[in-house]
Amino acid sequence: MIYIVVAVILIGLSIRWNWWMLNVKGISILMYHKIGVPPADSKLKKLWVSPKKFDAQMAYLKKKGYEIITFKDLAGGGVHGGGKKVIITFDDGYRNNYTEAFPILKKYGFSAVFYVVSSTIGKKNLWHEPDVEKPLEMMSAEEIKELSASGMEIGGHTVSHKNLARISVADAENEIRADKETIEKLTGSEMLSFSYPYGGFNETVKENVKKAGYRYAVIIKQGKNPLPFFDNFKLRRLLVRGEESHFDFYLNLSRGRNRF
Ligand SMILES: [Zn+2]
Repeated sequence: MIYIVVAVILIGLSIRWNWWMLNVKGISILMYHKIGVPPADSKLKKLWVSPKKFDAQMAYLKKKGYEIITFKDLAGGGVHGGGKKVIITFDDGYRNNYTEAFPILKKYGFSAVFYVVSSTIGKKNLWHEPDVEKPLEMMSAEEIKELSASGMEIGGHTVSHKNLARISVADAENEIRADKETIEKLTGSEMLSFSYPYGGFNETVKENVKKAGYRYAVIIKQGKNPLPFFDNFKLRRLLVRGEESHFDFYLNLSRGRNRF
């Protein structure tokens, strides 16, 4: 009887956590959205990571000897091998990225990549359904400039956060191009990477991101990216959910996922 109980517990744990998988090589691209405490009525709480947890995750990376790189390092051609290399990304450009994440990143001497939606700079994220979560403040032009000037990377996330696979080719092209032009003019630095809103892309969208002058694009699909990349415009990421434990974070980094 005891064997059956133990077996059932082990199977249960193995379904929830994939600790039994082998380590996967490749670059880990962490995906964050909001750093802070979620509004009480938010239905998107999992996309909020508390500053305390974010700080602990950065401390873990530092302690375990992970090397934090950006797309500039990749584009420069100096990144080789399967070592413990991590890119930290933030989608959407929420103001809490500047107020909460930026000071913590500076504390550890880490660089990160912030994907900004150009029409919402200094405004609110009006693409959100208000009954899912009330609109949030987005970073101002000055804050984005400051991030860029302090060595953070700014990336493209379209003009108005539309799913590019669901709008006309001409509209999608404009969403990609005009966003890049606006933000590059603001920061004075070239944007190297792009994040597809909702992870929505197809071959035409990918081609247009490439044509706009980007070198890399990230998707939402879970996983690590072995070098050399199979496709620069389809780089997988590791979603960090607010409710996850340190063990989940460790599994993400080592196995490329922490659940099924
Ligand atoms: Zn987004």
